[in-house]
Amino acid sequence: MTKLVHIGNVAIGNGNKVAIQSMTNVETNNVDLVVNQLLQLQNAGCDIVRVAVKTHQCAKALADIKCKVNIPIVADVHFDYTLAIAALENGADKIRINPGNVSADGISQIVDCAKMHNAPIRIGVNGGSVGKQYLQNYPTKIDAMVANLTDYVHMFEDRGFDNLVLSMKSSSVAETVVVNRLIASTFDYPLHIGVTEAGPYPQALVKNAVGIGSLLLDGIGDTIRVSATANPVDEVLSAKQILGSVGMLDVVEFVSCPKCGRCSVDLEVFAQAVYNKVKDIPKRLKIAVMGCEVNGPGECADADLGMAGGKGKFVFFKHGKVYKTVNEDVALQEFFNEIDLLVK
Ligand code: SF4
Repeated sequence: MTKLVHIGNVAIGNGNKVAIQSMTNVETNNVDLVVNQLLQLQNAGCDIVRVAVKTHQCAKALADIKCKVNIPIVADVHFDYTLAIAALENGADKIRINPGNVSADGISQIVDCAKMHNAPIRIGVNGGSVGKQYLQNYPTKIDAMVANLTDYVHMFEDRGFDNLVLSMKSSSVAETVVVNRLIASTFDYPLHIGVTEAGPYPQALVKNAVGIGSLLLDGIGDTIRVSATANPVDEVLSAKQILGSVGMLDVVEFVSCPKCGRCSVDLEVFAQAVYNKVKDIPKRLKIAVMGCEVNGPGECADADLGMAGGKGKFVFFKHGKVYKTVNEDVALQEFFNEIDLLVK
């Protein structure tokens, strides 16, 4: 079990639900644009949002932004430690820094300020930001990343600070999984996980689903960010799909068969329509759309509700048992009615 860390009104670690993160992609000093994007992200299901703080103007804007939203905000700061301090003074709920590009005195001052504001700090090493000396002194990049992060952790613990969140990211799925497994077995700080620089969709979703999903199934990860060259709202929707797929979020498990020669209905059309109907329902249900009545109900016997195609008709089944037959032309509406009844 990892340590408990509070990021504003969201708790992570210590068995809390895995929090979804994303990052705004507009100028932080444009308060209206940022607030608009934060609200969109929150409505989509995001728990924590990171914003880039590049200037003191951005840091000051946080105070105005914080008045208009209640989602916790993480200030992403590089190089200039005074920006981290200004962000905390203007209400940032957490700071994300790369200790490799901040002076030792700067770290001490950030730590003092974070203690005063009771704010956590995320520190991490990415595949592209490993210190050169570590790469030279360790046999593999993974060893170098772990040694680098370990030194960062000591840098903060030596200053009496343990309100930390750790991250180890790489654009390689395998590297991300291996380094996080190592870190999870070394430290008990909450882990922020994700595959970084994962590109556009569908690659971004596949890489993050494999990387984040593998770690979550190992019991590793307290907050996740799907990195994608896309609208950040899509990152949140992808994160929800990943959490739903590993059983960590209440969503409908939608099942449809791959279709074979036994199918005599336009399965793709029915499957897509039912998927669209159920994809946002926040309940743990299993709904199936199967291609044939011979094998469909048996192949998906544990579905709460299912429909299976026949010649010009569909049979509806619950837990593998057929209970109703309807004509194909009204099957979709009838099935939607059944879903509505089930959800109620
Ligand atoms: S449910 Fe029927 S149509 Fe679908 S894959 Fe199985 S046998 Fe084929």
